[in-house]
Amino acid sequence: MRPICAHCAIEYAVKTCGVTVAVMFASGRPYQLWNADLWYCSSCRQEIIGGFADHPYCVDYQSNMEAEFAKVMEHKRTNTCGPVYLVYESCRIRDAHGGIFECLPL
Ligand SMILES: [Zn+2]
Repeated sequence: MRPICAHCAIEYAVKTCGVTVAVMFASGRPYQLWNADLWYCSSCRQEIIGGFADHPYCVDYQSNMEAEFAKVMEHKRTNTCGPVYLVYESCRIRDAHGGIFECLPL
């Protein structure tokens, strides 16, 4: 079942297949790296991230996290390999840089 827009009562559609989500500690270190999709409502244009993989492809205790996160940040900088989202537990600022959004901790 696809996500449903609560406002419009229609199913979301995939806008971008393959985005990277980096779940961050408040300290700014990466906790988990995920593959997911960007979905949108064709009526109100609200966007959400869903369709997550079953597991993160990298977690903080793995020895390759530093190298994998460096790749993510390079993709974010060059805007290649789809959008990159840095996600914090608490978020109040959304910052757009060519379609890349970043949430900052409160
Ligand atoms: Zn909608």
